[in-house]
Amino acid sequence: MSLIADTLLQFLPAKRKHTPSGWISFNAPCCDDKRQRGGFIQNAGDAVSYHCFNCGFKASWQPGRTISAKMNKLMRDLNVPDDIISQLRLEALRLNQSENTIVRQVIPTFDERALPMDAKSLEEWSTWIELQGWENTDQELINAFCYLRNIRGIDPYSFPFYWTNKVGFKNRIIIPFYKDGKVVGYTARATNDAKPKFISEQQPGYVFNLDRQTHDKEFVIVCEGPFDAISIDGCALLGAEIKDSQNWLLKQLGKEIILVPDRDHEGPRTVEQAIEYGWSVSMPDWPKGVKDVNDAMLKIGRLATLYLITQAKESNSLKIQLRAKKWFTEL
Ligand SMILES: [Zn+2]
Repeated sequence: MSLIADTLLQFLPAKRKHTPSGWISFNAPCCDDKRQRGGFIQNAGDAVSYHCFNCGFKASWQPGRTISAKMNKLMRDLNVPDDIISQLRLEALRLNQSENTIVRQVIPTFDERALPMDAKSLEEWSTWIELQGWENTDQELINAFCYLRNIRGIDPYSFPFYWTNKVGFKNRIIIPFYKDGKVVGYTARATNDAKPKFISEQQPGYVFNLDRQTHDKEFVIVCEGPFDAISIDGCALLGAEIKDSQNWLLKQLGKEIILVPDRDHEGPRTVEQAIEYGWSVSMPDWPKGVKDVNDAMLKIGRLATLYLITQAKESNSLKIQLRAKKWFTEL
């Protein structure tokens, strides 16, 4: 119910006619009308419109807007008492503020961001290596290639990975964050024991790898880390928590969302959140010792990993909870 629509309906002249299209007509209060040429309609979403077909006066209101001077005049013409008018103005203002807050928090926007200085893609670096020779190549660059191939089992050219020889980043592989083709951040993963493991430039609400969720894909697989996502061309939350804005972005794809949680102590909470957002969850029968999607791909390969994920996907919240109880205790 809408306080504003309901109040206006109460104060419309008692003598009224209802048209099949939903208008209510009555003698317009805005002018000297005796032929019921004032029209009032309540539209979807609690919006209201008034139109006088005698003098042409119009007034309208919809949730999220404040009460206009014209709507104020209409209410006065309808003899709505001043204290009720001010109450309605406050109600409209409250709705206006809460709608703006929701929009600001949930629908994220992303500015373009620069990668670390002199960062070049591994493809560019490989050309450079061909020209300079391996003997003149930084050991750290070779480590970056080895890290992807040997530690992660990922083809260095399957994703636009970057590297730079600048201090602080030499021992890292840079994963750019794309959104609509633009770079909006990055994470730089250490290829050795350097701390922190990740140096990130991340904007709130970002979901990794959305750009690769093409129309031909039936569902979107959501993991925690970027290497998990790259392993199977899914998305990554870049953490164990699902943010409202991440849920919003993923829902925009219009696909079934399947969470594959990391099998660790934070996993159960991520699963609970996924249930609240109405996502499916997959907790596959991983081989022993496998804790995440990238581990699984290293052990059994990409196709078998994808097969296990789709086999184990579940949308029923009760079944998800039962499975989670078992899956996380069998660590
Ligand atoms: Zn009028």
